[in-house]
Amino acid sequence: MLILECPYCGVTGEETEFHGGGEAHLTRHGPGSSDDDFENYLFLRENPRGVHFERWRHVNGCGKWFHAARDTATLEVFGTYSAQTTEPPQDIKDAITAKRPGWSWREFK
Ligand SMILES: [Zn+2]
Repeated sequence: MLILECPYCGVTGEETEFHGGGEAHLTRHGPGSSDDDFENYLFLRENPRGVHFERWRHVNGCGKWFHAARDTATLEVFGTYSAQTTEPPQDIKDAITAKRPGWSWREFK
């Protein structure tokens, strides 16, 4: 069971308390972008075994969106943080590095 903590209201709950919203930190492309960029934005997603960053919404609580850093293989959660960020906070990256030395995902190391 995946256990998450909402960074806004502090509620800790099972994943049924929340709703997954897919991959976090996508680079959005819209009108005026190339066909390849737009296609990649719409359809291509990471599917790693290991460290991953995801969007979640606290549907049975405050209703706010947030991001979670977790391991997809072990369900270990490294931390949750505001969705209004362009990259994971340093303390989240440090927590991941402490437990998964040498990890990398995109440009987040
Ligand atoms: Zn909440």
